[in-house]
Amino acid sequence: MIYFADLHVHSKYSRATSRDSDLVNLAAWASIKGIKVVATGDFTHPAWRQEILDSLEEDGTGLLRFRKSFRYSNNPTPSRYDLREVRFILNVEISSIYKKNGRVRKIHNLVFMPNMESMKIFCKKLESIGNLKSDGRPILGLDSRNLLEMALEASNESYIVPAHIWTPWFSLLGSKSGFNSVQECFEDLSEHIFALETGLSSDPDMNRRVSSLDDYTLISNSDTHSPSKLGREANIFTGQPTFDGIRYSIKLGGSGKKLLRNVSFPVTSIMSSPNFNEKQDAFLGTIEFFPEEGKYHWDGHRKCHVRLNPSETKLQNNLCPVCGKTLTVGVMNRVHELSDREAPQLSGRSAYYWKMIPLVEVISEALHVGQKSKKVFEVYMNMISKIGPELFILSVFRPDEMRGRAPDSVLEALEKVRSGHVILDPGYDGEFGRVKLFREEP
Ligand SMILES: [Zn+2]
Ligand SMILES: [Zn+2]
Repeated sequence: MIYFADLHVHSKYSRATSRDSDLVNLAAWASIKGIKVVATGDFTHPAWRQEILDSLEEDGTGLLRFRKSFRYSNNPTPSRYDLREVRFILNVEISSIYKKNGRVRKIHNLVFMPNMESMKIFCKKLESIGNLKSDGRPILGLDSRNLLEMALEASNESYIVPAHIWTPWFSLLGSKSGFNSVQECFEDLSEHIFALETGLSSDPDMNRRVSSLDDYTLISNSDTHSPSKLGREANIFTGQPTFDGIRYSIKLGGSGKKLLRNVSFPVTSIMSSPNFNEKQDAFLGTIEFFPEEGKYHWDGHRKCHVRLNPSETKLQNNLCPVCGKTLTVGVMNRVHELSDREAPQLSGRSAYYWKMIPLVEVISEALHVGQKSKKVFEVYMNMISKIGPELFILSVFRPDEMRGRAPDSVLEALEKVRSGHVILDPGYDGEFGRVKLFREEP
């Protein structure tokens, strides 16, 4: 089978998250989206950890599912979805703020644990370092290297994936407080890092211009603060979902240089290639945002309404033409800075990827009504119950399988997204970019 996994989410115990970000809503929205494996997120938070321990059980493969005795209060899914089918993987995002080589570093890392026992051991160690109660994504004065060491001590099956590695303020390679390489950050333990999260504002092609990242698998997740936004980026695996299978598959990466060129939708079209075996545990690739839609794609100052592309920023000497202060340098610019290639090159770890936009945005564009309107929600839910989960609508089903079960204009808009015929309005300095499917009347 092929299945989708979203490995970076936050619970209601993280700052600035939706109050309905609980286990039931995460599982419900995972079902609606077609995500088989979803991260628990936030397991270092004592209250959230208790909810995990009370509600979930190990399924024997290193993943978790709801206990049989669990009582679901308001399951928002269409009735055919069984929330016990969803699997959770134990993880947490840690925000490390510390001084290294004379500079303050602020790095976000995802820590994965293979079972509840290792999770408890790891949390116990962290408790002595800082406050785990104040935020589901705890802020610790802990060097990323030492965090990795502690995770490996709790379990040698655990692993760390640096999160949204290009974000200016809080990431491994960020322009404001990051490093220039994985090795500079993790030193002697660098070999234990085998994957990086690209974040919403960058896509694999941008990353593959940087040869020092060739040995890393690039994964993509939603990093969502609200369950309904699960899967806006996601990973696609083949095989049976297990903790080991996921770890092994990510570590191995995609099929690398042997990849077929110019893959198109539907995602399953590559299944017809001769060396494809859907029974084998493997990392097939990722579903990506158009990176322009991310919050930090270009440079600028949100408050000054200044948005610049990297060459414009250079002309301005990195200073804001309105207020004169240093600009927030976005992901595109930082990639230029660290890249040593003009064009992307496939590495041994490269995988497939498909760019898309969330279905509510497709419907909203097609029907010319706001994304939060009742109409969009109705059409959305109707499509989910008549056709199937969102990620399958976006990336798996063929148009003829959907015709007659959704408004023609929505299916037409979907084809535009699949073929990449979109109009992009890049994000900058914390402001999300926009993808439009139809040109506005002049
Ligand atoms: Zn983060
Ligand atoms: Zn400014």
